[in-house]
Amino acid sequence: MDMQTAEQRIDELKRLLTQYGYEYYVLDKPSVPDAEYDRLMQELLALEEQFPHLKTADSPSQRIGGAALELFEKVEHRTPMLSLANAFNEQDLRDFDRRIRKAVGDDFSYVCELKIDGLAVSLRYEDGLFVQGATRGDGIIGEDITSNLKTIKSIPLRLSEEVSIEVRGEAFMPKLSFVALNERRKERGEEQFANPRNAAAGSLRQLDPKIAASRKLDVFLYGIGNPEAVGVVSHSEGLDYLDRLGFKTNHERRKCATIEEVMEFIKEKTEQRHQLAYDIDGIVIKVDSLHQQAILGTTVKSPRWAIAYKFPAEEVVTTLLNIELSVGRTGVITPTAVLEPVRVAGTTVQRASLHNEDLIREKDIKIGDKVVIKKAGDIIPEVVNVLVDQRTGMEVDFYMPTHCPECESELVRLEGEVALRCINPKCPAQIREGLIHFVSRDAMNIEGLGEKVISQLFAENLITDVADIYKLTREQLLALERMGEKSVSKLLAAIEASKSNSLEKLLFGLGIRHVGAKAAKTLAQEFGTMEKLAAASKEELIAINEIGNKMADSIVSFFEQEEARELIEELRNAGVNMEYKGPKPISASESDSIFAGKTIVLTGKLEHLTRNEAKEKIEALGGNVAGSVSKKTHLVIAGEDAGSKLTKAQELGIEVWDEERLLEELKK
Ligand code: NAD
Repeated sequence: MDMQTAEQRIDELKRLLTQYGYEYYVLDKPSVPDAEYDRLMQELLALEEQFPHLKTADSPSQRIGGAALELFEKVEHRTPMLSLANAFNEQDLRDFDRRIRKAVGDDFSYVCELKIDGLAVSLRYEDGLFVQGATRGDGIIGEDITSNLKTIKSIPLRLSEEVSIEVRGEAFMPKLSFVALNERRKERGEEQFANPRNAAAGSLRQLDPKIAASRKLDVFLYGIGNPEAVGVVSHSEGLDYLDRLGFKTNHERRKCATIEEVMEFIKEKTEQRHQLAYDIDGIVIKVDSLHQQAILGTTVKSPRWAIAYKFPAEEVVTTLLNIELSVGRTGVITPTAVLEPVRVAGTTVQRASLHNEDLIREKDIKIGDKVVIKKAGDIIPEVVNVLVDQRTGMEVDFYMPTHCPECESELVRLEGEVALRCINPKCPAQIREGLIHFVSRDAMNIEGLGEKVISQLFAENLITDVADIYKLTREQLLALERMGEKSVSKLLAAIEASKSNSLEKLLFGLGIRHVGAKAAKTLAQEFGTMEKLAAASKEELIAINEIGNKMADSIVSFFEQEEARELIEELRNAGVNMEYKGPKPISASESDSIFAGKTIVLTGKLEHLTRNEAKEKIEALGGNVAGSVSKKTHLVIAGEDAGSKLTKAQELGIEVWDEERLLEELKK
């Protein structure tokens, strides 16, 4: 390439990377996939190496992160928070290894860690007390987000030793929390976050710590800003010390003597990454000895003693065969891409939500297009972009219909919403979806009444509203396809059992707009009975933490409807419980016990307590003891010979205590 062309291309790359960096770091809203950003950055680095005099100090290749937002107080980092150099393949790793050997000889070891895909934070402690937390910002100046960081439960406010220390780590949003957050945002007609990393960054840069608190963030610490001051001599020793101080570090780390061992670690983790509860985008490899780190030094942007191996992007190309429409419980019409089946991130994908028409236009999606697919948060398939240059001319434009595909009433776009809605309350699709929601796990949890059975019952007019479920007879069920005596008996028993569910399940099941499972629980705890909730005024509702204006309006207008009141009466007459049965809420101020409000699972054999005694003691301190481990479990107490529950807890990254720790905490 001649110099003039190189100069033009460098300018172009600088402009693009600056724009993408701003969108990613400042707005938390990237417009291109990371792999595209990385590709452009590699191109810029290569050109700058070839034409060094074209490298300027303001080049994105010389800068770390984005500028600190004016909204926050600025924090000057005592030692800069650097980025990491990248490796994309084995060759890059071998080159890195060669550079290290050249500088420090052959006597050294590496530490490999997972590269958590979140945002870097710094936590400062004075005499063991948490005094300040900040973002990385541009590496020199970050943003003071202390109050937001205090909402992350795994960040200790007091350490086990009275040390003054600055620790660094990655704040992140677990995959399941990310999916649930986007789900909630979708319900409210809000924009979705592109990935857990942006969701975590967006949450920590909120001015209201309550929002951060609601986002279920977590943190892994992986470094010490001032290691000399606390007397550690290697990175691995530092991590063990962080553990002892009470910090959460990631234990999927390994000391490796050679680059071959590093490669083995990378191979293992590449296979396991989709099973982790959080997103990782690579493996970080660091020289262990701090003395050798000092010899190697740093560049303006990153240390020379570390490198980040980035996983190849899990993006695949497939054909978009069709766009189908579905009508949701609340009448929202969602277009879904039907895809030529393709494997991505561990499963076969055949459908991906396209959310709404705006998104289809924005991404210029046509039926027949070759599209790039990835999984957001490793879970939800998503169309990233269209390969426009592979079009044949046979692709067909897609337009949203003007009328509901199920009931043919005219669709509307409510103010401030991107979605088209069917607002006919009698729309059969909405009623059917409402029934499916009513029996779902977080609602009435009627096993055996899945989507297929409900659709059949609905199509044959055997159920038209949720109260009809309780009127189903053995004969009616036996007449359905693929329903034998045994499954009918089981189903009837499940329907019967659901009558005694605690109030929150019914409340959530009724599908009151804006009332999710969590809000339903709060309402059930606060009001105790359906009657009291139905009589509540907007003011009483808003007085409750967590219940906002919109939700309060929606609850009041739900209970004002004649049909809703009749439906509740019918359910009551059928014997459905209308009272809250769970433990009373314990607010943080009422109980400062570590168990308050937490869901805890006991497993294995305890030596000093029976299971029941342990359960009673935990419950007396405001904890909830559950039978099985799920993403909702906060803590698992594992006695001797703990089996699958312990394994599951480890897989989900849930905190595990032994009996001794339990006894200690019960004593406090
Ligand atoms: P980076 O994410 O490549 O690596 C450095 C960061 O890794 C550290 O700051 C730290 O936060 C993190 N990290 C995670 N686990 C770690 C561990 N165990 N030890 C040490 N550090 C660990 O660098 P960056 O400067 O934060 O971001 C650059 C990357 O961000 C790009 O490679 C690209 O993938 C992405 N990006 C994307 C866009 C876009 O438009 N899509 C724009 C800008 C940046």
